[in-house]
Amino acid sequence: MTNEQSFDYDLFVIGGGSGGVRAARLASQAGAKVAVAEEYRYGGTCVIRGCVPKKLFVYASRFHGEFEDARGFGWDVEPKGFDWTKLVAAKDKEISRLSQIYLTNLGKAGCTAFEDRAVVTGPNEIKLVNEGRTISAKTILIAVGGTPFKPDLEGAELGITSNEVFDLKTLPSHVTVIGGGYIAVEFASILNGLGSKTTLAYRGPSVLRGFDEDVRDGLTEAMQARGVDVRLNASPKKIEKTNGKDTNDGLVLHFEDGSTLETGLVMFATGRVPLTKGLGLETVGVALGRNGKIEVDEFSQSSVPSIYAVGDVTDRVNLTPIAIREGAAFVETVFKDNPSKVDHSQIPTAVFSQPEVGTVGLTEEQALEQYGTIDVYKSQFNPMRNTISNSVERTLMKIIVEQASQKVLGVHILGPDSGEVTQALGIALKMGATKADFDATVALHPSAAEELVTMKDKSYSRP
Ligand code: NDP
Repeated sequence: MTNEQSFDYDLFVIGGGSGGVRAARLASQAGAKVAVAEEYRYGGTCVIRGCVPKKLFVYASRFHGEFEDARGFGWDVEPKGFDWTKLVAAKDKEISRLSQIYLTNLGKAGCTAFEDRAVVTGPNEIKLVNEGRTISAKTILIAVGGTPFKPDLEGAELGITSNEVFDLKTLPSHVTVIGGGYIAVEFASILNGLGSKTTLAYRGPSVLRGFDEDVRDGLTEAMQARGVDVRLNASPKKIEKTNGKDTNDGLVLHFEDGSTLETGLVMFATGRVPLTKGLGLETVGVALGRNGKIEVDEFSQSSVPSIYAVGDVTDRVNLTPIAIREGAAFVETVFKDNPSKVDHSQIPTAVFSQPEVGTVGLTEEQALEQYGTIDVYKSQFNPMRNTISNSVERTLMKIIVEQASQKVLGVHILGPDSGEVTQALGIALKMGATKADFDATVALHPSAAEELVTMKDKSYSRP
């Protein structure tokens, strides 16, 4: 006879974002009694102040270039202006709709949803901060995500982050984005496209560290050509206010090399950190790593057996589809007796900069390091649309192949719609496609993507 302790819930999820909500719904569908607590708005970073509003802003910012290009095709278009408040209101309406869907779906799946901050008070205990109620659960899942990080420099409080940029009252006339990662290049492109005078200040020699070198250099040049003032090797030192107005106006940014820049708004896009502060995890013995991330094993279990964690709070691969997969694998493992891990390799990803980046698999340098001898196929071309639009921006496509097996290890694209193309390429790479498979595929004509199957001659081999 077992002596099972009884709990209020089988599963208590802290965090109503992509990973937490997916896990809660699937666990409930598997027969578990589930509750979720979210302190801000259901939907999490992706829906409320990340991927979704960002992509809506990306669409808005692209019209600028479209109007320009249209002239080459015979259209006489003169945009009368851009209404920032209208865009923000439309975005707010859409994210409210999506947030409500998240909440509704939790209810439909039979989960209890609390709109409250929850903290961990024991290996099987949670406290709802506002209600003051203590709840017990057999398993606790932490899915609280991350939050923007600002470097510790003088005047950092004068700058905003991606948390605030979506709700600015007005479009800044001059903005400086600090950083060179995903968020920095995406927001510099958005704000530039919407009409702000935009500076991107990055401490490194080329944006998007970790991406393929050709893509990094190509994007840096293309952003400059599109009007972003890209300042490289520019490490921020302090921000100073030059007049009594708000943060939309009158700031001076000082760099480590002694140079200065007068700007309006400063936006930090200097990374994100796990949101574990004050969650009570240390007090119950959950091991935390760098920047407070929850240390988990490949099944997302923390050092306390009843506590699991998925998504950005574990700082593995900080992408929405990964959090969703980790949430689903957690449910398979804990509630379906089917231990499941998430494969973190060959993840297709896009950076919605302008131009866009799509990438899957290894970069040239990673492939060389891991496989020793590689063939590289590279093409830079003028897409058909530009022949008439008068744009001079070239598209870059690069295929990295292991020489011995001829397996395609990575594909990197810089150009329009590269994210869309890369999703499909992800299937091919996951299936282990070889260069011969690419060659055997008939071109879809006329398209830019056909270049991927018509690059017959290798550009070079390495080492
Ligand atoms: P990233 O880690 O991508 O980039 C952070 C940037 O800030 C880097 O360029 C880094 O420089 C720089 N930086 C860090 N610390 C300092 C400092 N003290 N002073 C100056 N610069 C600094 O973070 P993001 O904030 O851009 O994005 C967070 C994560 O969110 C991404 O990693 C990604 O996983 C996810 N994301 C995904 C998107 C997508 O899929 N399209 C879109 C947006 C976000 P250095 O390179 O030198 O370290």
